[in-house]
Amino acid sequence: MKRKPIMAGNWKMYKNRDEALAFIYQINEKLPSSELVETVVCAPAVYLRDLVKRQGDNLRVGAQNMHYLDEGAYTGEISAGMIKNIGVEYVVLGHSERRAYYNETDETVNLKTKKAIESDIVPIVCVGEELSIRENGTTDKVVGEQVVKAYKDISKEDALKTVIAYEPIWAIGTGKTATPQQANETIVAIRKVVEGLYGKDVADRIRILYGGSVKPENVVELLSTSDIDGALVGGASLKPESFLALAEAA
Ligand code: PEP
Repeated sequence: MKRKPIMAGNWKMYKNRDEALAFIYQINEKLPSSELVETVVCAPAVYLRDLVKRQGDNLRVGAQNMHYLDEGAYTGEISAGMIKNIGVEYVVLGHSERRAYYNETDETVNLKTKKAIESDIVPIVCVGEELSIRENGTTDKVVGEQVVKAYKDISKEDALKTVIAYEPIWAIGTGKTATPQQANETIVAIRKVVEGLYGKDVADRIRILYGGSVKPENVVELLSTSDIDGALVGGASLKPESFLALAEAA
């Protein structure tokens, strides 16, 4: 089954406005066609509007988080409606840094995923295990449970509007990449969980990305596996040349 690849950059809390705009101008014209690959930049919230206004035909803009409620007294938070309103099309949800530092749980990831779908924003739902879990051999079980909880009460049709990112925590920002075989095996296991929830058709069609120290030097091997449909990239998405190389490789 051929699935359209996605190359998503996660800028985290990096870049000032000038750098963010220079990046966009540098890559806009050089990106591969969006018919071939979906290229997304997930930027700090303050630059989202600036980037949407300047995005070329082959670039999409994503947020790195959002709230699951429509509005309210939640100082510092941003709603799905707000990011949708300024033209943002994707949102990263449940990133391990948000789970570790900002009390993101499987339950809030589920609520946010539902809200993103309802708001017509593509959620990139992150799951992944700690090193101790990888070492004690329970990765598939732990990651599978994260997927089941993230997709609670989400219909088959809606599940297809989402993207999953498998990001082993021990490989994020550490320079340690999961081997293509390790990453692919876990993604195959995630697809099985999706099949259990929604059937084979959805499992075959849903896009599942790998994330964790992906760079131009290792991306081709990772993407040549059977089940990895693209990447969510932190560090290597910050430099225009390297992000372009990643998008071209996809
Ligand atoms: C990430 O932030 O999702 C990530 C995978 O980071 P890095 O590529 O730097 O490991």
